[in-house]
Amino acid sequence: MILIKTIQQARNLLGKQQAGGSSIGFVPTMGALHNGHMSLIKTCLDDDQYCVCSIFVNPTQFNNPSDFARYPVTIEKDIRMLEAAGCNMLFLPSVEEMYPAGYTALHYDLGYLETILEGEFRPGHFQGVCQIVDKLLAVVAPDKLYMGQKDYQQCMVIKKMINLRGYSTELKIQPTIRETSGLAMSSRNMRLDDEAKAAAITISQVLFQMKENLRAGDLASLKQNARQRLEQQGFTVDYVEIADANDLQIVNAWDGSRSIVALLAAFLGEVRLIDNLVLS
Ligand code: AMP
Repeated sequence: MILIKTIQQARNLLGKQQAGGSSIGFVPTMGALHNGHMSLIKTCLDDDQYCVCSIFVNPTQFNNPSDFARYPVTIEKDIRMLEAAGCNMLFLPSVEEMYPAGYTALHYDLGYLETILEGEFRPGHFQGVCQIVDKLLAVVAPDKLYMGQKDYQQCMVIKKMINLRGYSTELKIQPTIRETSGLAMSSRNMRLDDEAKAAAITISQVLFQMKENLRAGDLASLKQNARQRLEQQGFTVDYVEIADANDLQIVNAWDGSRSIVALLAAFLGEVRLIDNLVLS
């Protein structure tokens, strides 16, 4: 695996790969890699792509400075995992490389998508996500971009940004990888102690229970029960919502046929966890 730290070097190398006929697949991450990330790398390689992974803890997408300061960094282990998986290139830029002095941020017109769920509870978050993924797409110019369904709304936002900016990159959304307990893998899980990790299992249990108890009609009690169960386990809930799986319009009463997804975000102490499950 080649480790690259500057945009210029990345462009030189990837330009040669593209000229040589390679198709480029890209997996952007913030590091502290786990099997969720590695499944994206594996799919990218299985698709016969020259696989580029980036690790960059992007300051502009953190609306909470202490969340940024405490974001786990395990770079040596990450490099070993990527090498073992057969990743071709790791792009590991500094903050100065991505945001040089005088950098001016674009504003992305994300419309409704930015007003709900993560957009509502993390003001500015998706603008930061778009900024960095836009910059990374300009550097890597991938044919395919691999992202996890774990961040359901983020996938929709990036799809919109790709359209707004006119990239020809194809977004490939991959399923959420879970621990055997059901807990969705996340870098933030590293911040949970054993007791908190045991409590965190409630998140996926609540989602699977919502799927099991889903009936056509009013969805208020389904959401309310989920919220209550999380609160009983000591969570502070930001939201438990059910939305149209295609456009994230909030669904309060289900007609029994529309594809819907349950999404939630909740704090366990200072650690904020998110998860989602397509219900139908
Ligand atoms: P992050 O490093 O958390 O920004 O995530 C980088 C990419 O990995 C994003 O596309 C995430 O959606 C994806 N990802 C994170 N956790 C998982 C998971 N448990 N399963 C599948 N993909 C994931």
